[in-house]
Amino acid sequence: MKSGKRIVLFTDIGDTIIDEGTEVRDEGGTVIHARCIPGARKTMRTLYEEGYPIVMVADGTVQSFSNTMRENGLDDIFSARIISEAVGAEKPDPGMFRAAMDELGLTDADRGQIVMVGNNVKRDILGANRAGLISVLLTWSDRRPFDEDSPEEHPAYKIATPPELIPLLERLEEETQRRESVTK
Ligand SMILES: [Mg+2]
Repeated sequence: MKSGKRIVLFTDIGDTIIDEGTEVRDEGGTVIHARCIPGARKTMRTLYEEGYPIVMVADGTVQSFSNTMRENGLDDIFSARIISEAVGAEKPDPGMFRAAMDELGLTDADRGQIVMVGNNVKRDILGANRAGLISVLLTWSDRRPFDEDSPEEHPAYKIATPPELIPLLERLEEETQRRESVTK
C-alpha cells in the first residue's frame, strides 16, 4: 500500500453511512435519493483526508450506490467499490471480502489491519470475523437486530455513532505502528 496509514477501512453503506429510512427508490428498485446518517459524511471525508484507504463493501446495486454517494459528496473517497450485484455474492460470503482485499493488493498478512464497519451482525460482523478482519458494529440504526447467535457474530468493537470511528481508527493505527516499530 502506498498510503502512509497502516489501517485500511472497509465499510458497509446502508445504515452505516446512508440512513436507509430516507431512501427513495424508482419503480425498478434503484435508490435514487437518500441522506447520510448524521455525522457520517463528515466522518468519512475526515478519514479520507487523513489518508485511510476506504473500500465500499456493500450489498445492493452498482447504480444505487453511484446515485447516493454522488448525491452526498462521497463519490471520490473510495479506493475501490465491492458491490454484491457485481461480485455475484452477498456478505457474509468471503468472496466479498476477498474481492476487496484483492482490489487493494492486500494479503493474508494484512488481515489484522483491516477494519470492517457495518450495522449487520449476520452480514458485516460475521463476514469480517470469518475473514480475520477487525469487526466494528455501528448500532445507530435499530432496523436490524443485534442479537448474536454465535461467537462469530460478536464485534471486536461497538460504536453508537459514525464520528466514534475516527478516534477508534486513530487508536488502532497507533497500536499497529507501535507494534511494527517494536518488531523491526
Ligand atoms: Mg447495512
